[in-house]
Amino acid sequence: MGSKPAAGLYLVATPIGNLDDITLRAIKLLSAADLIACEDTRMTAKLLTLLGLPRPPLTPYHDHNAERARPALLARLRQGAVVALVSDAGTPLLSDPGFRLVRDCLAEGLPVTSLPGPSALLPALQLSGLPSERFLFAGFLPPKAAARRRCLSELAQVPASLVFYESPRRLAAALTDMAEILGDRPAAVARELTKMHEDLRRDRLSVLAGHYAEPPKGEVVVVVGPPEEAPPESPDSLDARLTAALCEMSPRDAAALVAAASGLPRRQVYARAMVLAGR
Ligand code: SAM
Repeated sequence: MGSKPAAGLYLVATPIGNLDDITLRAIKLLSAADLIACEDTRMTAKLLTLLGLPRPPLTPYHDHNAERARPALLARLRQGAVVALVSDAGTPLLSDPGFRLVRDCLAEGLPVTSLPGPSALLPALQLSGLPSERFLFAGFLPPKAAARRRCLSELAQVPASLVFYESPRRLAAALTDMAEILGDRPAAVARELTKMHEDLRRDRLSVLAGHYAEPPKGEVVVVVGPPEEAPPESPDSLDARLTAALCEMSPRDAAALVAAASGLPRRQVYARAMVLAGR
């Protein structure tokens, strides 16, 4: 398996479904680790067995014990141990524990290395068919409706695709709120990524909300397209609005009013107002 890795914390991505997605680098590191910190030791033990790897000591590190478990992990790292951090599935720190451990390691000058690999985020974005050059990963929305709707309002103006992790039970309610608060944008629901029953459904948010009224089986990611641009103002409707405004105000004020309402550049609207006003 090569030489022993240098001491430090290793953030190791593990498969989200298909076992073959684990990287060679992850296999080598997990085989050589002195200690694996994992969300659920049974899940990680099963993964090591499926991969045919030896089983180093496993220690739980999850949302409920992280505050207590972190000092012991930091102590092992200070002593020069090779510590792997894994999630039940996918990439640690992506809607999974690890951020505070990384922050504390960095504060103490302890080495941290990322072994990237599987995650549900990128395959969902890739397969959504929605713009991918700019996106915002929003993780899980709050489970309660009022907080969820508030969170969506904060995201409504973001000029990028949005990616959400969601529980199948709350999927329909979340899609309904998204349609109402973000607008009925094109979206995709990616289900059971990399697994045998992988399924992508692409449609408007309101249609997807209807389709998933009954909670689906498995795990889901929701991708929502960026805000849609308002259709360009046609020259006729611009003239009609300006002509009406010019009956009541100066070209300068009419241009300011119509530019604000239409979103068109003020200079362009003013130039047209001057033509219509015969000046
Ligand atoms: N850290 C993981 C990652 O890198 O994707 C995510 C962990 S988060 C606790 C679990 C959520 O990820 C699920 O509720 C679902 O939204 C998404 N997820 C994980 N595996 C998935 C899969 N195979 N297909 C679709 N979504 C998945």
